[in-house]
Amino acid sequence: MEPFVLKNQSILTIESWCKQFPELIAGFTTKSGGCSIGDYESLNLGFHVNDDGLNVCSNREKVAELLKFPLKSWVGAEQIHDSMLKKVTKADRGKGSNSYDDSFKGTDGFYTDEEGILLTLCFADCVPLFFIAPEKKMIGTAHAGWKGTVGQIAKQMISSWGREGIKPDQIFVAIGPSICDKCYIVDKYVINFVENTLEDGGVLPYNLLNEGQYSLNLRELNRQILHAAGVPDENILVTELCSSCNREEFFSHRRDHGKSGRMLSFIGWKETSDRL
Ligand SMILES: [Zn+2]
Repeated sequence: MEPFVLKNQSILTIESWCKQFPELIAGFTTKSGGCSIGDYESLNLGFHVNDDGLNVCSNREKVAELLKFPLKSWVGAEQIHDSMLKKVTKADRGKGSNSYDDSFKGTDGFYTDEEGILLTLCFADCVPLFFIAPEKKMIGTAHAGWKGTVGQIAKQMISSWGREGIKPDQIFVAIGPSICDKCYIVDKYVINFVENTLEDGGVLPYNLLNEGQYSLNLRELNRQILHAAGVPDENILVTELCSSCNREEFFSHRRDHGKSGRMLSFIGWKETSDRL
């Protein structure tokens, strides 16, 4: 069953997690329901793609309303396809929420165990990873394109949480809407990095199509990395939703030849006081 379920035209949530934990807000946006125009039509949430900044802010306010999670409590990053993670606290709230300038530099993942912070990252084909360790109230999200994936950002999150006293079998992961293997054709240069990442004996996450052309399943590669890091297979949810195949629903950097908006991954605990 598809773990990411449409709640309204703009928001997909990780349904099983959100049902189990009513205070959890976790999911991914679509490209619908915003006010941006042209290549960014309509719910572009990325500041860095040359869209009108006022429209991006308006779109972010719209998502904040839908999630009932105020924009001033979000954090955002300048993502660089690396594997640097940042643990954030309430003191960080608002950084990168309504401007790119004060976002976290060189950061491709966030985690926190505090309430009232919405962790957000931008996507258009790269793989959004979502993490939760309910017993410790730890949550996280990470950005895994091919570079972040072979840089093992997924494993970095498991290792970081290990230093917080969290065991891999206490961690649940959801792998979100991103480019599928049929749409993601790469060359041998990328596959060489993938091969260095693989454990012996696993199912190959890529197929040779033609001389020097491969289809690569980044979601499956991330799943294998999480498995190797000790996360039980039954703890991992994997989407079937492709950002490139679903033209009506998602932006796709590759399909749209580099001119496109960005969707947002989000995860946060509502503040206890919000529920009173
Ligand atoms: Zn596809």
